[in-house]
Amino acid sequence: MYDYPLYRPPSESNSLIIQVTLGCSHNKCNFCNMYKSKKFTIKSFEDIKTDVNYFREMYSHVEKIFLADGDALIIPTEKLKEILTLIRNTFSECRRVTLYGTPKSILGKTHQELKELKDLGLYMIYMGVESGSDEVLNDINKGVSSNEIIDAARIVKNADILLSVTVIAGVGGIEKSDIHAIKTGKLISDMAPNYLGVLTLMVEEETDLYNKILKKEFKLLSDREILNEIGILIQHINVNESVTFRCNHASNYVSLRGSLPEDKEKLLNQINYDLKTNQIKQEEYRRL
Ligand code: SF4
Repeated sequence: MYDYPLYRPPSESNSLIIQVTLGCSHNKCNFCNMYKSKKFTIKSFEDIKTDVNYFREMYSHVEKIFLADGDALIIPTEKLKEILTLIRNTFSECRRVTLYGTPKSILGKTHQELKELKDLGLYMIYMGVESGSDEVLNDINKGVSSNEIIDAARIVKNADILLSVTVIAGVGGIEKSDIHAIKTGKLISDMAPNYLGVLTLMVEEETDLYNKILKKEFKLLSDREILNEIGILIQHINVNESVTFRCNHASNYVSLRGSLPEDKEKLLNQINYDLKTNQIKQEEYRRL
């Protein structure tokens, strides 16, 4: 039923996954090989309908649905509305439908279009931001600027759709660690997403970043430096609206969770404690 590899956010572990696209519409970030094996395709409505009917027969109760793959929001709005309507008619018990949306795909939708998608059940958009530094965004070939990311966040929030974003600790390397952390903190302050997930850079072979490391054009951070960078990031997040903060992905060395702004000091104290008590070993470098 699925075209592998298949990815979904950790918080969608209990969701039914329906593939409506294959691959990622961008597929050019220098650290990412998630969808390198796939040519980006929007599946036909008939194929999606076949999958939906199959899942209906398989599962008697489905409360959450995640639309995969990498950038389901890029689907033209009329077709996405048809898909959401099909889901609503088929899974009347479903409480929420979520998907990944790149900043470019979000910017390709009008306020009215997002409102219509929200009214048909689109509950939350997951957006990979990675960094708030334009230099780093350029280095990693993200294809968008920090201002475009802020505009995309505003459009989503104005449509009353929840926004969950991820950033990547270490993605600027040693050289740009400080600027990456500071600018990302400021970007998050401007976006005020509902959820913020901090991942840690994992280097995969067969990526441009891997080759840069081999050529010594990019230096990875040690465990301690990553944790220190996350501390600087948190210091620079100043929000009035509540942001649920998570740094407990499998890629992270320590597990941090809380709500900003109220848990800011608690999170910073935990980082300092972990650094001081050598929870993170001295200068333990990741692979390579
Ligand atoms: S937008 Fe996301 S899935 Fe696509 S290449 Fe970049 S990191 Fe990978």
